[in-house]
Amino acid sequence: MPSRRQKKNVEKRLKEQFIDQRGRPGGWGVGGSILLYTGPTCSGKSDELKIAAERAIDANINYRAFIYEGTETHIPMEHDRIPRNDEISDSYEILEEISQDKDISMVIVDDVEKFDEAIVWVCNFMADHGIEVRAAGWELDYLGEVNDTTAKLMCAADFLVKQTGVCDLCEGYNFPRATRTQRLQNGRPVVKREAYNEKGADFQARCRKHFIPGKKVSYGMSPDDKKFGFLHVITGCMYSGKTERLLTMARKFDVANRRYSFFLPDPNIKNNGKRDTKADKVVSHTGNKQDAMIVSHSDQIYEECSSGSCCESEIVFIDEAQFFDDSFVEVCNKLANKGFGVVVGGLDNNFRGEPYSHMKDLLATSDRVEKLHAVCSKCNSLFATRSQRIIDGEPAHYDEEVHQPGGKEKYSARCRHDHQVPGNPYKMQ
Ligand SMILES: [Zn+2]
Ligand SMILES: [Zn+2]
Repeated sequence: MPSRRQKKNVEKRLKEQFIDQRGRPGGWGVGGSILLYTGPTCSGKSDELKIAAERAIDANINYRAFIYEGTETHIPMEHDRIPRNDEISDSYEILEEISQDKDISMVIVDDVEKFDEAIVWVCNFMADHGIEVRAAGWELDYLGEVNDTTAKLMCAADFLVKQTGVCDLCEGYNFPRATRTQRLQNGRPVVKREAYNEKGADFQARCRKHFIPGKKVSYGMSPDDKKFGFLHVITGCMYSGKTERLLTMARKFDVANRRYSFFLPDPNIKNNGKRDTKADKVVSHTGNKQDAMIVSHSDQIYEECSSGSCCESEIVFIDEAQFFDDSFVEVCNKLANKGFGVVVGGLDNNFRGEPYSHMKDLLATSDRVEKLHAVCSKCNSLFATRSQRIIDGEPAHYDEEVHQPGGKEKYSARCRHDHQVPGNPYKMQ
């Protein structure tokens, strides 16, 4: 395991080598983004990568594909137009390889969950420097535990597609709602971590209701009732329309006469103690409003929905998810497993462009994710995914406090290329 300092030195050297050999990207109009596919086994993630590779060939775009050393690739090799994938175990090697070939403008990475954590930095670096990154991986392992690397990449991605499969146990339903991967040994679910054995391993896609997780996953399995709960996360940067999307959905449930509840975190948590008089309303940036129940701890949401005033609800809306406590992800999953439809809005990244509190785990354990985009306040790109904090007209320093709510005077939306964080040790300024 390299130390933090060693890692930083490697990253510095790689940056210099990259710039030296390929030059700096030249401002507006330079591409470079991360498109990430996640989802369970047999949900078609690698197929998407294969299609991306084929399109690149048709369009004469030079690309390289990387997979983790020693694993069988899912990007078919028999297609003679597709060059053989490189097998890589150290994420930095990808940059080493790319630096040496100026013409490569797309990089494909399959099975990101098997790479070391540096893959997140490597993918961000490539996207920041004009390379189109297409990646795929498991966000949950076969025990239902979050893969931290893929989860972080879900936050970093400019475009996120959570694929679903068809559950083996949902008899009579071909509806693709499987978001979990069950590992079976002689037909029995594996609930302990076992060595990866390509030969004996049997992996099946399962829905939330039929998936049996490992012992560490505290929200466990669903009770045996007819309801299918779900966890749907609406995420994105500031001004991407998350709250507006929640309110639009709530209006649809009004029309359908369905019962729902709406929750917001106590502004005392949110505003560092400052009271907000509009507290019991959800108010979008466009001025639409909705009554909401204020809770100071996520356990209160669970109590209200299981035995309190909201137990008649079918759908539970929660906004500003990033401000909640550490139990939040567990609470949302417990409610979904009980049969509630849980729809959550929240920021994926903080102003530094790093995953906001528990949001990466929320994205990973959800059944559906919509990553919304804002318009970049600098270049008018339609794909802004970062929240730019401004202090006295200048970009806020990396070391500033993370939780700092504010409106247009303090934040604007930016694309990854125009997002500025002075003092960010992980990004080239
Ligand atoms: Zn099922
Ligand atoms: Zn921009």
